[in-house]
Amino acid sequence: MTKFPIEKLKAIQTPFYWYDMDVLRATLLKISENEQKYSGYKVHYAVKANANTVLLEEIRKAGLGVDCVSGNEVRCAVENGFDPAKVVFAGVGKSDWEIEYALEAGISCFNVESVPEMQVINEIAASKGKKACIALRVNPNIDAHTHHYITTGLEENKFGIGMWELDSVIDSLPSLANLELIGLHFHIGSQILDTDPFQELCNRINGLQDQLEKKNVQLKTINVGGGWGIDYEDPDGNPVPDFDSYFATFNKYLSLRPGQELHFELGRSVVAQCGSLITKVLYVKEGQKKKFAIVDAGMNDLIRPALYEAYHKIENLTSDKPAEKYDVVGPVCESSDCFGKDRELAGTSRGDLIAMRSAGAYGEIMAMRYNLRDIAKSYYSE
Ligand SMILES: *Cc1c(COP(=O)(O)O)cnc(C)c1O
Repeated sequence: MTKFPIEKLKAIQTPFYWYDMDVLRATLLKISENEQKYSGYKVHYAVKANANTVLLEEIRKAGLGVDCVSGNEVRCAVENGFDPAKVVFAGVGKSDWEIEYALEAGISCFNVESVPEMQVINEIAASKGKKACIALRVNPNIDAHTHHYITTGLEENKFGIGMWELDSVIDSLPSLANLELIGLHFHIGSQILDTDPFQELCNRINGLQDQLEKKNVQLKTINVGGGWGIDYEDPDGNPVPDFDSYFATFNKYLSLRPGQELHFELGRSVVAQCGSLITKVLYVKEGQKKKFAIVDAGMNDLIRPALYEAYHKIENLTSDKPAEKYDVVGPVCESSDCFGKDRELAGTSRGDLIAMRSAGAYGEIMAMRYNLRDIAKSYYSE
C-alpha cells in the first residue's frame, strides 16, 4: 500500500522516519468501525509505541483515548489535546510525582499493579481531598507464545497482581477510602498474531467476574490491554492489521455484564505499518563469505532488531538490479547493530536508499544518542 515518493525522499537528509498518513488513517478507520460495531468498546492508544505529535493528532481526531505508562506520557496526552477523561495510567513503578500529576490532570483511571502502590495512591489522593479511580491489573498467567522479552502475563513476570491474591486485595479496599475500584485490567504481551491467547484471556476474565460477583463487586470496565500483532513480513500485503478477528474474539468469548465497558490498549497495531526508517547505503563491503551493506542508520534509530532480534522487512528503493544477499548493518560500534542477515536486496551500491519497513511502533520513540549520533527527524506523506 505504501508508495514511496522516491524523488522527494532523495532530497531529504538521511536517516529519517517516513510516515504514510494514508496507512495510519486506514488503520484508524478500521478501529473506529469496530468500536462502533460493538457497544461499550473503547480503544486507548498505547502512546509508548510512538508519541510523534503529528500521529497523535490523527489518533485524537479518530476519537481514541490514551494509555500511558509514565507521568510524562500523561503530560504528553494532555498537551496534545486528549481529554483526560480518556486517559488511563499503568506501570509497575509509578513515582509519587507521577501519581500527583495524574490526579491533578484528572485522568480516568490508574491501573494499579501492587498492594503497596494502592496504599500510596490512596494516601496521595487523600492529601489532595480526591478520590482516585483504579482498576486492578491482574496477571492472568497466560502464555501469549511471543518473544520472552515481550510476554507480560505470566506469573514469573513483574507485572500485575496475582490471581491468588485478588480476593484479599479486594477485601482490603474498604480501608482505602480514597480509592474507587472501577475495573480489572489485563495485558498479556505484545505482537500476538493468534486469537487463541485472547480467547483464553476471555475465559479467565469470565471466571474472575463470576468469582467477584459472589463478593458483590460490580465493575464498570474490563480492560484487556493491547498486544495485537502486525505482519512484519508483508507490510504492503497487510498494511492494516486484522482488527475484525481481534474484536470479534472478545465479542464471542467475553461475557460483559449489562452496561459494562470493554477497553483496549492498542499500540503497535495502530502505528507500526505507517512508519519506515529511510537510510542511505554508505558502503558495500565484500567480505570473504558475504557482502555487507553498511547504511547510515543505526541501532540507535531502530533498536528492535538489536534488542529482540526483531524482523523488519528491508527494501532497496532505488535499485532494479538483480537481487543479491547482504547483511545490512549500521555504523554504531556494536556487533548487534545489524538490521538483517542474508537479506535479499536488489543489487546495492553506495547512495541507494533503503527502507526498513513497519518501523512506526517502538522505532522513533526508542531513538537514543549512543555514539553521540543525532536523533533522526520525521517526515510525512500528505
Ligand atoms: C505496552 C502496553 C500496551 C501496548 O502494547 P502493544 O503490543 O503495543 O499493543 C498496552 N497496555 C500496556 C499496559 C502496555 O504496557
